[in-house]
Amino acid sequence: SSVLTNSLRPVILAAARSPRCEHAITRAPLSRQVVNRFVAGRERSDAIAVVSRLLDDGRYVSVDFLGENVTDAGSARATVHEYLSLIEELGKFSGTLAPVPRVEVSVKLSSLGAELNTDVAAENARTICAAAQSAGVWVTVDAEDHTTTDATLATVRSLRADFPWLGTVLQAYLRRTESDCLAFDDARIRLCKGAYNEPEAVAYIRREDVTASYLRCLDILCRGTGYPMVASHDPVVIAAAARMFCGVERFEYQMLFGIREPEQARLVAEGQHVRTYVPYGSAWYPYFMRRLAERPANLAFFLRSVVAR
Ligand code: FAD
Repeated sequence: SSVLTNSLRPVILAAARSPRCEHAITRAPLSRQVVNRFVAGRERSDAIAVVSRLLDDGRYVSVDFLGENVTDAGSARATVHEYLSLIEELGKFSGTLAPVPRVEVSVKLSSLGAELNTDVAAENARTICAAAQSAGVWVTVDAEDHTTTDATLATVRSLRADFPWLGTVLQAYLRRTESDCLAFDDARIRLCKGAYNEPEAVAYIRREDVTASYLRCLDILCRGTGYPMVASHDPVVIAAAARMFCGVERFEYQMLFGIREPEQARLVAEGQHVRTYVPYGSAWYPYFMRRLAERPANLAFFLRSVVAR
């Protein structure tokens, strides 16, 4: 299956960026169940219902309003407004930032207009952080493709001067990430493998190399003074993290909504902090395609449901 994943992955990830594929797939008679396996729903109220259920189950959450690569200032403003309404509703579940808020929002700077103007996106992110801070909600800035990494980390670095709790994502498949982990070893860092189609010049391609890089990066974060967040469904990574976390004061596990639910429940039962990433919104296409690319079984599930109709 890893041979299949390796050969299909770039194809699916290319389709994730293709407007023609998006047009075809978002208009295909997809059953709600297929998309809803990975996405909480289209409306904010769908996300809030899922959040409430997960919190009742002892999970923590990070809610993402789907949208990326926004190319006009009006849409970026609309995204900010949606986040402000979301934070207000999530604040009812939280109340205070100390010690660890159960609710968080995740945001992509490209959804705040970073492709138009990084300063505008940074100001939009600042507005979101200020609202989140007073609602007792955390914010983590997602990682996108490698061409955005420098700008994203620069924005996060400057926002952390005012919002030291602000988190960001580092992607272990990038060759640069060990040094980024050293630079951010006092920060709240979500470490993931990375979900985009990256060239070999900047990224490890083989799964074993990505996992090895992940463990080196996690080791750096565990020796730092920050708050490592292990965002992975990989049993090898989760077992290694359990060992490395010995002696680390604050850390958490993170997984995506709809993926390895029994494992999420098992970690909660063990007394661990598990934060589930809950995406919602109508712009589900690229997110959904990245999930399909991660696992041939997901692609098969998707194709069966399309063909069955
Ligand atoms: P893999 O090696 O891909 O998978 C290991 C095992 O986990 C599989 O064998 C399978 O059992 C299970 N599994 C993995 N994926 C799936 C799936 N889709 N469906 C069903 N089972 C699966 N990436 C970014 O580039 N930027 C981000 O900002 C970002 N944020 C993330 C936030 C969270 C909370 C998480 C969990 C992931 C995030 N990712 C992000 C995605 C990440 O980079 C990986 O693409 C994704 O998590 C798959 O890698 P893995 O470590 O789970 O291991």
